[in-house]
Amino acid sequence: MNTNFDTIIAGAGLAGASAAMALAKSGQRVCILDRSEFASGASGSGLALVSPMMSRKGRPVWKVREALDRLGRTDTGLLRPASSLDQATYFKESSLQNPDLGTWIEPAKVGTRFPYVKAPFGLVHVHRGYAVDLATLTKSWIQESVELGSVAFCHVAVQSWVENQDCVRVLLSNGQSAIAERLLLATGPDLVNHPETQHLNLHPIKGQRLRLKKPEGWFGSILPISGAGFVMDEGQTLSIGATFEHDWQTEGPTEEGKIELLNQAAEMIDGIHDMDVVEHVSGIRVTVPGTRMPMIGPLPNCPRIWVFTGLGSKGVLMASLLGMKIPDFFNNFKSIPMNCRVAMRTPKA
Ligand SMILES: Cc1cc2nc3c(=O)[nH]c(=O)nc-3n(C[C@H](O)[C@H](O)[C@H](O)COP(=O)(O)OP(=O)(O)OC[C@H]3O[C@@H](n4cnc5c(N)ncnc54)[C@H](O)[C@@H]3O)c2cc1C
Repeated sequence: MNTNFDTIIAGAGLAGASAAMALAKSGQRVCILDRSEFASGASGSGLALVSPMMSRKGRPVWKVREALDRLGRTDTGLLRPASSLDQATYFKESSLQNPDLGTWIEPAKVGTRFPYVKAPFGLVHVHRGYAVDLATLTKSWIQESVELGSVAFCHVAVQSWVENQDCVRVLLSNGQSAIAERLLLATGPDLVNHPETQHLNLHPIKGQRLRLKKPEGWFGSILPISGAGFVMDEGQTLSIGATFEHDWQTEGPTEEGKIELLNQAAEMIDGIHDMDVVEHVSGIRVTVPGTRMPMIGPLPNCPRIWVFTGLGSKGVLMASLLGMKIPDFFNNFKSIPMNCRVAMRTPKA
């Protein structure tokens, strides 16, 4: 392969792929590498919600309109049932303040409009929300980048690097090395314990999800539902998830996780416990403690080594919002939003 690039990107998940597309559009020569298949980490975990009113109070996600516009697609809508009277008050207020994002539906009207959802306290019909397949989206961004001249290789890992005055030399698992102006690390959970990035004190959160077979005669297609977890319609099956596990014994799926997911989903729709589980998977998303915002920027004292991570549970929205701005960030470090900048953090105890 050609070994001279403007940017080498390690990791072909949502973070790396969004950056690859934006950099290619800005005219950069980009090489994107994944040690496994493309979208094989959290970004390969199936359907995901694009949920514009996500917080406990149903407030708009940070810069959500800009993120949605960048994603640029027709929204199908999703439902956010309130779980208490208090939450219903917040949701109603937020819907009134953000009528372009969602409409409050009183409990008495839910049954006629959305008969499949349990919402005794009412719900927000979030017009601009929808479900999207993470792997398909990630691969479409890689494809777009390649069509603009980037190169992309799976089953090639970035093993190490040496930063010089005018370039970075990247050593690859296939024995080759490549040279670039910058290396962008978008390797998801691998950043948590990597010797060069563990001081960032990133926090991994495990999530499990289930695929359930819809019984004969069940409702036709339903809108995605986001409450304690989510329910998404895949046609013959429902995808339900996700757990938020901060400590775990095993990275794989567990029986406790399955029970938690089934109970969560049963609070949102009927018949869950009668459905057959056809798949049970797990993944790990990275968050940034304290800010809970993504993290972007050069590592301290390493101007050519950048990280882009911490997309958390808002992977699609944050990748579309921030990944697409990476060329601007490369040109002007100060254009990175303050709450997303890489900071030197206290090393883990
Ligand atoms: C169960 C679950 C449910 C979720 N639901 C939603 C949702 O509904 N909506 C939403 O927006 N987000 C959701 N997310 C979050 C979203 O999936 C993540 O925020 C996003 O996928 C993270 O992308 P990433 O590119 O940072 O990391 P990843 O997707 O993990 O990508 C990292 C990539 O780096 C590669 N890699 C690692 N080390 C190397 C190396 N040395 N060299 C080369 N490549 C390497 C890996 O193989 C991997 O492909 C969910 C996550 C989980 C786990």
